[in-house]
Amino acid sequence: MNFDAYTDLSVVTAVDLVNTLDVETAQDMLTRPDQLAKFLDDHLDSYDRPLTPDDVSDIQGLRDRLRLAFTLGSIDTVVDLLNDLMAESSALPQLTDHDGVWHFHFTPPESSLFAHMAAEAAMGLASVIRDHGLERLRVCAATGCQRVFVDTSRNRSRRYCNPDICGNRTNVAAFRARQRAAGASG
Ligand SMILES: [Zn+2]
Ligand SMILES: [Zn+2]
Repeated sequence: MNFDAYTDLSVVTAVDLVNTLDVETAQDMLTRPDQLAKFLDDHLDSYDRPLTPDDVSDIQGLRDRLRLAFTLGSIDTVVDLLNDLMAESSALPQLTDHDGVWHFHFTPPESSLFAHMAAEAAMGLASVIRDHGLERLRVCAATGCQRVFVDTSRNRSRRYCNPDICGNRTNVAAFRARQRAAGASG
């Protein structure tokens, strides 16, 4: 499954934003403007205005709504959610090559940060649904992990946010449980 580079950036931005809040532990990696600035440096290709605490709370609100796209499981509800975000952001697609590669900006430069990020993330997730289906938007199956991810595996079989960490941890736990069961019966 291939995304073009900028669709991929939108999708990665949405996933990474949702995962800045660990809903199991309530640990939040996006509570201050400097943390938000770092996140944007890593993810957004153009936004250079100063960030405020209001920006942080707006993006936290966006994050809560984006998580629902992974958890609701109802195509009608999720599509409404994403279409609402695109409408609220007053998305205005414009083709640009300001960095040497043709790509869309979904909002004008003067738009709020919320509008930029809502349009970007909603377009990314909506593109995944259009091309590959809602079942690609997943929550990690490991106990104690509710990180979200987009399943890009060919046979739609990915279950963990990080197979090396959550997948391994789950396999080890299952192995120990089998050992205990074998010990108890033997
Ligand atoms: Zn750009
Ligand atoms: Zn996980």
